[in-house]
Amino acid sequence: MTVFRTLDDLGDVTGKVALVRVDLNVPMAEGRASDLTRIEAVAPTILELADAGAKVLLLAHFGRPKGERHSTLSLSLVQGDLGRVLGREVMFVPEVAGPIVAQAIGILGPGGIALLENTRFWPGEEKNDPEFAKAIAANGDFYVNDAFSAAHRAHASTEGLAHLLPAYAGRAMQAELVALDKALGNPVKPVAAVVGGAKVSTKLAVLEHLVARVDHLIIGGGMANTFLAARGVDVGKSLCEHDLAAQAEAIMDAADRAGCTVHLPYDVVVAKEFAANPASLRTCNVHEVAADEMILDVGPQAVEALADVLKTCHTLVWNGPLGAFETPPFDAATVALARTAAALTAEGSLVSVAGGGDTVAALNHAGVADLFSYVSTAGGAFLEWMEGRELPGVAALAR
Ligand code: ADP
Ligand code: MG
Repeated sequence: MTVFRTLDDLGDVTGKVALVRVDLNVPMAEGRASDLTRIEAVAPTILELADAGAKVLLLAHFGRPKGERHSTLSLSLVQGDLGRVLGREVMFVPEVAGPIVAQAIGILGPGGIALLENTRFWPGEEKNDPEFAKAIAANGDFYVNDAFSAAHRAHASTEGLAHLLPAYAGRAMQAELVALDKALGNPVKPVAAVVGGAKVSTKLAVLEHLVARVDHLIIGGGMANTFLAARGVDVGKSLCEHDLAAQAEAIMDAADRAGCTVHLPYDVVVAKEFAANPASLRTCNVHEVAADEMILDVGPQAVEALADVLKTCHTLVWNGPLGAFETPPFDAATVALARTAAALTAEGSLVSVAGGGDTVAALNHAGVADLFSYVSTAGGAFLEWMEGRELPGVAALAR
C-alpha cells in the first residue's frame, strides 16, 4: 500500500493554517442536507485539527457549477448543517483564495473553523491549474486531504495543492485506505464483482480493466440491459445505452481472454410502467420482453444462480444495485443477493466490500450494511480503486 503522512506526523500546529479538502457534497432537500453521512465522516479530522490549535480552512466542491458562480450551489447552504454536526461556530468565506481569505484568517483565532466557497466556481479547479492552486496554497501552512470520494479526480484542491504544501491524509481518508487495502490489497480468490446501477457509460470503462482482476463478473441494473442488447436481446423500453454495444462486446471478449465468467440475468422482472407494484408486473425470460416493457430487476432464478456463485467465492466487490431498488418489488434481487453476501461474510467465508451512494442506500434498505466487511460511501473513487487504478489524490499524498 502507498505510504502517506497522517495527522500523527504533524508537529505543533498552534496558529498554523490548515487547508483541509473535505467532501461536503451532501444531498439537499428544502434548503437543508437530507443526509449528514458525509459531514459526519469528516468531522473527526476537522475537530482534531481545531482542538490542536490550527486555523482550519475547509475546501470542498458542491454539485457541478462548471467554473461559474451559482447561488444555488454555494457552500454557504451547508454552513448551518456543518456547524451543527461539529458543534462549533463555522465562518463562511465566499472565496477560496486572495485577500478576503487572508482577512478571514486574521479574524479566526487558533482552533477557528472557516468554510471556503465551492472550489468548482473557479475553472482552475477542474483544470488543476497550477496558478489557481498556488493562489489557494498562498494562504495555508499545510494541506490535509480527507476526501477519498474525490481522490479519483486530479483537481487543484484534490491533487495540485498536495504538491505545493506539506500534505497529510485526514482521518477519514486514512481509514478508507487502510480498510480497502486490508480487504482487497491481496484478495483471496475466487473474486466476484457485482456491477449494476444506472451510470452505464462511466462504469463500462471500469469493467474493461476489472475483468482482468476478478473471476466472476455479475452484471445487473441498467448495465445488464446494455449487455443483453449488445447480445441481440430485445430489451424493449428498458434503460439501456444501445450506442455502447461495441464496448460491451469488447468487455465480454476481454473477459473471455482473462478467464473471467460474465453473468447476465436469464430471467428478469418487467413492467409497462415504472411504479410501485404495477398491474403490468411480470417475470419472464430475457428473450420474452415485449416492446412496451421495461426490465426493472433481475429475476428470481438468476438470483438463485448468483447466490451459488457467491458461495464459491472468497472476495466480493459490489458497486451498483441489481434493480430499481427504490421502488418495490424491484428491490427483490438486490436485497436477496445482499443478504446472501452478508450471511457468507458472517460465516467467515467471504470478504465483502461495497461502494457507491445508491449501493450503500440499497444495502441499508436490505438491512445488511453493517454485516459487510467494509462499505465505502465513495462512488467513482471506489470504482477506480476497484479496477486497480492509482487515484491521483492518493498518489499525491504519497511520500
Ligand atoms: P451507485 O450510486 O451505487 O454507483 P448508480 O448511481 O450507478 O449506483 O445507480 C443507481 C440507480 O440505478 C438506482 O437509482 C436504481 O434505481 C437504478 N437502476 C438499477 N437498475 C435499474 C433498471 N433495471 N432500470 C432502471 N434503473 C435502474
Ligand atoms: Mg448513484
